[in-house]
Amino acid sequence: MLDLKSASKLEIEELFKNLKIPLYRVRQLYHWIYEKNASTIDEITEFSKELRKSIAREAYISNIEILRSQVSLDGTEKFLFKLFDGETIEAVLMPEEDRSTLCASTQVGCAMGCLFCKTGSLGLKRNLKANEIVDQILALRRNSRKITNIVLMGMGEPLANINEVLKAINLMTEYLKLSPRRVTLSTVGIIDKLLLLPQMAPPINLAVSINAGDNDTRDFIMPINKKYPLEELVRALRKYPLKRGRRITLEYVLIKGINDHERDAIGLISLIKAIPCKINLIPFNPYKESIFQRPDEVDVLKFQKTLTDRGYSVFIRKSRGSDISAACGQLKGDYT
Ligand code: SF4
Repeated sequence: MLDLKSASKLEIEELFKNLKIPLYRVRQLYHWIYEKNASTIDEITEFSKELRKSIAREAYISNIEILRSQVSLDGTEKFLFKLFDGETIEAVLMPEEDRSTLCASTQVGCAMGCLFCKTGSLGLKRNLKANEIVDQILALRRNSRKITNIVLMGMGEPLANINEVLKAINLMTEYLKLSPRRVTLSTVGIIDKLLLLPQMAPPINLAVSINAGDNDTRDFIMPINKKYPLEELVRALRKYPLKRGRRITLEYVLIKGINDHERDAIGLISLIKAIPCKINLIPFNPYKESIFQRPDEVDVLKFQKTLTDRGYSVFIRKSRGSDISAACGQLKGDYT
């Protein structure tokens, strides 16, 4: 049986040819699956009953299952999804006045091992397929949630699963009708793959988790820095082609006593010179097993001021959903 969501267009065309179904029906099928959110072949009422029956003999539409949803005091909603093989992932929906952003996962677990991140403590179980990435959106839309923006920043490192992530981005922009401006990929900076993005993906937004102003600190909290050190990362960002008026977002998780000192801000400033960027400061969200602490408010503000005084746009990200472990770095995907 062919899963019409995970199959390539070629495979579907092959199936339709074998079933003597005209190929323009493939386009209609995509429209029904992605725009009209059909979860079974039988829901595709544009196809005759007979046509639906003949497709259903050979194929089906897979759907990930929402196992649980939890709503935070601030309106943030965290979803636990069950995949076809029983693995679980989480995604977080953050509704605001003018937008509703879904922070979606790209892997089950993550191999990057960032020390400040709960997902990192899981290790990598497996990559998600493109349809499992997109299905996080479809499942929520089917459950009447509005989604206007996507950040690939949930569980996993998107560039470590670049092929499936690229397919998912194409499905989002082509069939789910999300403008590339409303899709953001967040990475720790796997440089060789990062540099492929502008040629291989529509012009989505790029966010880079930088988190330190020097290699020693970054080596400690983000082991990937030993492979892709800061000076190489910033060199790549300097030459990253951006559409007119767009900037790279630099994410900086502020951890008490580790990277929240003024000298860290000064180190960061000298590193990121000539990169068109804005900076998001994310005060660390502690979780049960974490070895780090949240920085003091006064240090967060001081850090921000050091950067704004040099002309940078710096935003302190509100911690959303921390009461339900939905804040940045808190996703674990367990069903307990
Ligand atoms: S912060 Fe991102 S890349 Fe790092 S361990 Fe967590 S999920 Fe992986």
